[in-house]
Amino acid sequence: MNFRSFAPRSSRRGLAMTKQTSQLQGERWWIHGPADDETLHSITERAWRCYGAEGHTLRRRVWPRATSLPGEDVGLDGISAREVCVLARAIGVEPRELYRHRLQDHPLVLQENQRRAYCPSCWHEDAKAGHPPSFRRAWMGVFTLDCPVHRRPLHWAPLGVELHSPPTSRMPVWPRTAEGRDLLRTITGFARTLHDCLEGKATWPTAWRGSPDMARALLMRVVVNLGRIPEHPPFASIGFPAELFPFVGVPARRVAPLQMSPWEHVRALGPPAWRRAAFWMVARYVMPAHRRPPRPEGLPMEPFAALDAQWDSPFQVRELQRVQRYRHALRLITRPLVVARKGESRGDDGH
Ligand SMILES: [Zn+2]
Repeated sequence: MNFRSFAPRSSRRGLAMTKQTSQLQGERWWIHGPADDETLHSITERAWRCYGAEGHTLRRRVWPRATSLPGEDVGLDGISAREVCVLARAIGVEPRELYRHRLQDHPLVLQENQRRAYCPSCWHEDAKAGHPPSFRRAWMGVFTLDCPVHRRPLHWAPLGVELHSPPTSRMPVWPRTAEGRDLLRTITGFARTLHDCLEGKATWPTAWRGSPDMARALLMRVVVNLGRIPEHPPFASIGFPAELFPFVGVPARRVAPLQMSPWEHVRALGPPAWRRAAFWMVARYVMPAHRRPPRPEGLPMEPFAALDAQWDSPFQVRELQRVQRYRHALRLITRPLVVARKGESRGDDGH
């Protein structure tokens, strides 16, 4: 498809359109301007959905010498000021305006290629106002499970689906039963409080076990494979009633033993449903008995025993020494949370 074939004869901003392919920097994307709080990635995605080239390719057409880090496919939020200017020209906005839409990389924000959580109500309002669906920065926190405007649970829009298609526009607002709704509110509130405590904006509730750092370490333990062979992460053992299906979920595939910082695995957990499953498990061990969510179906009394057992073998694998170090450190940090261990499983549900 010819990239320029969508361009109307005259631009409302009077940009001169040229046919010389050598002047790719003069390309103009005929897309809707950035929505409030829209991520840079979302703006570019709308362009490639319209013009049929993937984001990175499209960006390189606009700016052939686009910066890319080794192994980095996206990296839009790290683009240079010059690239911002070129992209701004392609979109037809002021560079200063586009610069505002970058999302500074931060440990508490999802990785860039995982920022596909959305609020169906926001998209419904966008559609009524004639705006295309877009991803907002306010939805991209690791601990963000609901929309700050509508307070309804966020959902996940896979890269391969049309954003206006029924799966994204007809998502249920809440689970059918009061128990299901309570569970979601408890998990969402737990994640929000943990976030605020980690950021120093709130004090750790006195009735909660441990500390924010211990809870964060436990979150890493439930999300990461700290074993020696490919395995499901511990939170994937969680089962749930069918009515929770769009809201809670677990990945189906086994994952390799830890290969990077365990926190990066948490940041790579894009789907809000997966994060709810992980926070549900952590909340079980941190919240006091009268407040904590019910025990999820399928959660073993010793949730990390299967991974720990893999280290009983006397053969040490040199490549996995890093995994061992993380495993020792995270086990040590989370010890005061009384996560069920051998001989302690009764303590988990006994009070
Ligand atoms: Zn919303």
